[in-house]
Amino acid sequence: MPRPAPTAAASAARGRAAATPVRDAVRGAVRDALAVVLPVSCAGCGAPDRSVCDGCLAPLRPAPRRLSREGVAGWAALEYGGTVARVITAYKDGGRTDAALPLAAALVAAIGAALAELDVDGVELCTVPSTAAARRARGFVPVDRLLRTAGLRPARVLGLVRDHADQAGLDLASRRRNAAGSLAAGRPLHGRRFILVDDVCTTGSTLAEASRALIAAGGEVVGAAVIAETPRRNPAVPRPEPEPVAGRVVTFS
Ligand SMILES: [Zn+2]
Repeated sequence: MPRPAPTAAASAARGRAAATPVRDAVRGAVRDALAVVLPVSCAGCGAPDRSVCDGCLAPLRPAPRRLSREGVAGWAALEYGGTVARVITAYKDGGRTDAALPLAAALVAAIGAALAELDVDGVELCTVPSTAAARRARGFVPVDRLLRTAGLRPARVLGLVRDHADQAGLDLASRRRNAAGSLAAGRPLHGRRFILVDDVCTTGSTLAEASRALIAAGGEVVGAAVIAETPRRNPAVPRPEPEPVAGRVVTFS
């Protein structure tokens, strides 16, 4: 007996949902494979034959420094700008996942600095979620992928709970208003300790919002780690901070 149409449609919808992570994974794998097969150029300066040339690796060498923004204290491995900014942007938005290694090394150095000043066990890493639209556009979640590259796994505890405009180009007050209330934990977090992990810290409003959401759910924030922070003397430098968010999304990926 043929299946009724609604059941078939529901089945197809489930199939599409199940196929999406596979498709994203394949897309990432294809990009990586192409980076190996096709001639590459440096993600920092365009020099041929290297994902990141020796000259551009030097400014990416991590030198963790303390980070303190919006009540969140942590560590940044690098200062954002120049080569660091170009390689991060190429990795996140230019399809240059082959440039991940030096960024992963920098992120791990910042996490290591944060861990080194803690004398507690059982600390988890918490990343800021991407929207489904951003994941589809990129085919990967930049910070989570860097952690995986380093053999680390973030705790998937935060989700986006409301519309949230792109932070880039907003001033400090606007960023704070824009980020406030945009994240929530999907379950109680009592007894769990977290280091917040993100790629770039500009004003700190994203880290502050993530911290607020974790604490609101009963969790404890014991530090923060980012690849790079914008120079304190000019915190309004525009940068491709969090995700451009479109639509109403409630995801706990
Ligand atoms: Zn270079």
